[in-house]
Amino acid sequence: MNFPYSRRIANLQPSDIRLMTRECERVGGINLGQGLGDLPTPPSVKEGAIQAIRAGYNTYTPSEGIPGLRYCVAEKLRRDNGLDVDPDKQIVISSGTTGAFASALTALLNPGDGILLMEPYYAYHLNTILLSELEPQFLTLTAPEFALDEVNLRAAIRPNTRAMVVCTPSNPSGKMFSRDELNIIDRVAEENNLLIISDEIYEYITYDGRKHISPASVGQLGRRTVSIMGFSKTFSITGWRLGYAVAEPALASAINLVNDLLYVCAPSPLQHGVAAGLKAAPEYFQTLRTAYQRKRDILCDGLADAGLTPLVPQGAYYVLANISHLGLPDAKTAAMHVLERTGIACIPGSAFYRGSEGENLVRFCFAKEDAILLEAVTRLRKLR
Ligand code: PLP
Repeated sequence: MNFPYSRRIANLQPSDIRLMTRECERVGGINLGQGLGDLPTPPSVKEGAIQAIRAGYNTYTPSEGIPGLRYCVAEKLRRDNGLDVDPDKQIVISSGTTGAFASALTALLNPGDGILLMEPYYAYHLNTILLSELEPQFLTLTAPEFALDEVNLRAAIRPNTRAMVVCTPSNPSGKMFSRDELNIIDRVAEENNLLIISDEIYEYITYDGRKHISPASVGQLGRRTVSIMGFSKTFSITGWRLGYAVAEPALASAINLVNDLLYVCAPSPLQHGVAAGLKAAPEYFQTLRTAYQRKRDILCDGLADAGLTPLVPQGAYYVLANISHLGLPDAKTAAMHVLERTGIACIPGSAFYRGSEGENLVRFCFAKEDAILLEAVTRLRKLR
């Protein structure tokens, strides 16, 4: 049988992240490429899920999630994000942040609509945009500051631009948007009636005392923003597939309709597990920050020693490093060279850009046990 493929997948490329994972396995290396986040899960989260399974919470839940979790999320949004929302009308628990993002695009935008993405971008954002038959439009933020400039933002808006993605803290750059930058987005979004989709999955992984600012809490952005957040990174449960969208009731209701059709509901016992985790003492979040800052510093110091200049991140758990001194033609060749010489896998910077800006960058992930990171930096120093 000869089936034609859907034109929706015609422009999708398998990511270099998977390629590097395969190559890393081939050489038995240390994988600092993929953002697996394999640190321990808090016992309260695991126990909460185990008890829920034992108690028989194994069937479908409401598509928007169990009330117990939505109420905990509303409390957390008030405490940590400065957002006051109705847990019955404004929160949709989904199959990961990824599911919340896909549901929002499908529910709120039409094929052919333009959606602005800032480079360097998270490839899933781009690919989900393509899969949804939207038109990706780009604004390149320049290293090392990745600052947002109002003139450039205005210039990037096209007649069909309907939405904009803001990823803060960002994967891969670790950039955190400042209040001034979010005020720029507020002004430009008001003038152009843009929907803002903010991916805040790394909201608790921030460094040097920097405070995460939720776009929806700034100016008038709350009424036009879908805040997408999740538990994968906060509780090291990337395989549980739990995230959520927060928006004005009419937007949340449309997102929930699609969420129901695509996923039915998020995994029932696991929703109970993260609800237990959210009730844990707020000190947990400080411990998380401290641990990741130590990991960031181990890796960045090691990269600097190895001559791979790190662009030290403000948040999230990745670092872009400049590999131009290796004198290799492109980022993929450089990533393969680093893997062959040291047994450390990283991701070519080209995975995060359309054009050539990423060719002198590679990305390392430091969501790893300290001992593994220390071994990794010892090996990286061989590049010197
Ligand atoms: N958003 C960003 C920016 C990410 O880096 C990732 C994972 O790497 C995700 C979303 C995926 O989140 P989830 O596991 O909640 O689907």
